[in-house]
Amino acid sequence: MSDTRIIQPGATIGILGGGQLGRMLALAAAQLGYRCHVYAPEAELPAADVARVTRAAYDDEAALARFAEAVDVVTYEFENIEAEPIAHLAERVPLHPPVEALRIGQDRLCEKDFVAGLGGRPAPYRAVSSRAELDEAIRAIGCPAILKTRRFGYDGKGQARLASPADADAAWAAINGQTSVLEGFISFEHEFSVIVCRSAAGGIVHWDPAINSHKNGILDVCTVPASAIVQSQAPEAIRLASKVAEALDYVGVLTLEFFAAADGPVFNEMAPRVHNSGHWTIEGARTSQFENHIRAICGLPLGATDLAAPKVEMTNLIGDDVHRWREYLADPKAHVHLYGKAEARPGRKMGHVTRLEF
Ligand code: AMP
Repeated sequence: MSDTRIIQPGATIGILGGGQLGRMLALAAAQLGYRCHVYAPEAELPAADVARVTRAAYDDEAALARFAEAVDVVTYEFENIEAEPIAHLAERVPLHPPVEALRIGQDRLCEKDFVAGLGGRPAPYRAVSSRAELDEAIRAIGCPAILKTRRFGYDGKGQARLASPADADAAWAAINGQTSVLEGFISFEHEFSVIVCRSAAGGIVHWDPAINSHKNGILDVCTVPASAIVQSQAPEAIRLASKVAEALDYVGVLTLEFFAAADGPVFNEMAPRVHNSGHWTIEGARTSQFENHIRAICGLPLGATDLAAPKVEMTNLIGDDVHRWREYLADPKAHVHLYGKAEARPGRKMGHVTRLEF
């Protein structure tokens, strides 16, 4: 059984990570009367504008111990944190989602093994930890294929495509010979994500799956409702996400990404946290992913997740896009979110715009 202790409004929620996800979690928490305290090492933290901050390394045991004293419950907003110090933190203060979800979600091989073990269907894959193993994996899987580092990959980083076995040397060099996974190339109609939230009492809600379109490997636009093929595959994908949540005794928001292939949903990856493909839920659903995550980790009942409009579209503002904020605001029906980042570097997520159509 999950710990069903209620963290009452007025309490302080600790958030590991201080990016835009932490910022939007803190905003949702504030609405429910909670305070947030962010723990992250970076100088610039989008969440710092709306929360208290501890700036320290994720493996600084003393700083983590002080943080544990200052908060009533802890969550995390990104998964590239070493699990060990976080497991120690979880001995001092309730932590959701569980450390095991962090361990699995930060390693592409573990997440594929785990989800496949629950009946999910990833692309064909092989673990690769040496140049010779890459050749073996290519023989087993064939080309085209994608080589992905097991850890620290995001937004298409840490990946190399192989059109033929002749690309093996270049792909191995491109990922710097890190331990990785070779994946068969899936031909798909759409990419989509399923976002579920499991309460401390074990109830599970989900949002309508969004179609995710990417530009330069980065999420560009999310559209809800999804296409007919995605809608037909959604029940299976949602069942799988719910199974993952139950198997981990998970509390909070969990995201699974899929390819809609002709023969059914193919699992791509999971994120044990709120997700960019769920930003549309802030205005586009009755309760957002951020609010339900806060409700879940505090032991509160979850809010309804149905659509607030027949059609919702979320567009990321990447790099220089953000400089056009006046233009976005000129549309009186656009919901403009800016993350307060000082420098609009190429590929950097600077904000997003959501439009509801009635
Ligand atoms: P990922 O970081 O795993 O989400 O991969 C980044 C992007 O590469 C995805 O959004 C897909 O567009 C593409 N991709 C990743 N894996 C595969 C695959 N096995 N087959 C086809 N396309 C893929």
